Formats: sequence, C-alpha cells, structure tokens
Amino acid sequence: MIVLKFGGSSVADSERLDKVANIIKSHAVNDRVTVVVSAFGNTTNLLTTALQSASIQDKEYLDSLESVFAKVDAISTGLELSEATTKGITRYKEELTKMLEGVFLTREAGPRITDKILGTGELFSSLLLAEKLNNSGSKAIWKNSYNFIQVSDENGEKKVMQKPSYRLMQSLLEHEEILVLPGFIASTENGVPTTLGRGGSDFSAALFSAGLEAKELYVYTDVSGIYTADPRLVKQA
Ligand code: ASP
Ligand code: MG
Repeated sequence: MIVLKFGGSSVADSERLDKVANIIKSHAVNDRVTVVVSAFGNTTNLLTTALQSASIQDKEYLDSLESVFAKVDAISTGLELSEATTKGITRYKEELTKMLEGVFLTREAGPRITDKILGTGELFSSLLLAEKLNNSGSKAIWKNSYNFIQVSDENGEKKVMQKPSYRLMQSLLEHEEILVLPGFIASTENGVPTTLGRGGSDFSAALFSAGLEAKELYVYTDVSGIYTADPRLVKQA
C-alpha cells in the first residue's frame, strides 16, 4: 500500500484534477493506493470568510458560499456523477447552506459548527476526485475519514487517538479499489464531526499511512511539487 496526498492547489481546477488522476493511475499500476485530498484551491478560506461574515450578520457570506458552490459545479461539469455522489454533493451543499443560515441568525459560530462547515470542502473534493477516477477507467471507492480518524476532545484540546484510529482503518484494507478519503476531517469519540486544524490534511495522510502500514507516503503540494516521507515517522501534530 502507498498513500498519496494531494494539496488544495493540486486540485484547484478540472485540468489539474486530470493530472492528479493520471498520477494516481500511474501509481496504481504497481501498488495498492490510498488517496487523501485537501479541499479545492482556496475553498477552506472561502468557508472561513463565509463563517465570519455570517456571524456578524453580513449577507456577503452568501457570495463566499456561492464561490464555493461555483467551484464544485465547475469541476462536476464534464464528470459523469453516480447517483450516490450527486446525492452526497446535494446533501453537503444543503447542510452548508443551513449551517450558515444558523450562524447568520444566531450570530454564533462555535467550534463544532465551525469544524463542520470548514470540513465540507474536503467532502466535495474527495467525492469528485473519486468520480474522476471512476470516469477515467479506474476503480475507486470513496470513504469518509470521519469514520476512521478519532480524536479525544478535552475542553477543546484535541488529540488524535492513534490506536483506535488505526484499528478502525483496518476495514479499509478489504477493498481492492483505489481508496479516496478527505483530509482534515475526523470525529470525536462521541461521533461529533471535527477537523485536525488548518493545514491538517498532511497529518491525515500520515495517519492513514501509519494505520494502513503503507510502504510510502507521497505528498503532492501541487502537480509539480512532491516529496516523500517515511510513514513510520508520524508525530502528534
Ligand atoms: N483544507 C484545509 C486547510 O486549508 C486542510 C488542508 O488543506 O490541509 O486548512
Ligand atoms: Mg487547504
């Protein structure tokens, strides 16, 4: 098994997504592959801006939200989406809209809703990358990292629970397909959606590498920048 991590700028538009799919396919010739992906381009920043605007009842939050949706739609165009992916995308868009409406009405953006809103970017990018692979002749399967990375949360101090997470990851090994997972996303022991903090997708990839006992972790910062890491060197961020 190898783990490939793609950063947001490497999946910022359809063209780059094509390149990413080709890179994944070339690795899949020789190895089983798990892919961890960040949100498209500046999606997380747009979501942060939306959240900030909504929390001061500034309707401009809708513009930021619209920009996020526009990116998702632009990348979806030209892809043939399965029913499950279409449903997933629609559901996550609706959830985002409702959550931001809630923030707007209450002028409150607590840590839980903040994490859930910010993590949606990775749900979009991972779902669409899995579709991209399936559209181009590979067999890929999407899984939500929410179910595999667990953190303890003591008064807002979050810590990844490595052993329980690695145990959960074992079920992923049953799949022959290329695995595609969102970076950044995790859950607490009580099942509350959370994230690993800004820039956390690298950490997600390192955790999957360790849990799946990958022989290598490749981190693609954009399609030209790449470095590899020894998956055994996972440290608590
Ligand atoms: N999308 C998240 C961020 O921008 C996580 C990541 O890219 O690593 O912080
Ligand atoms: Mg990012």
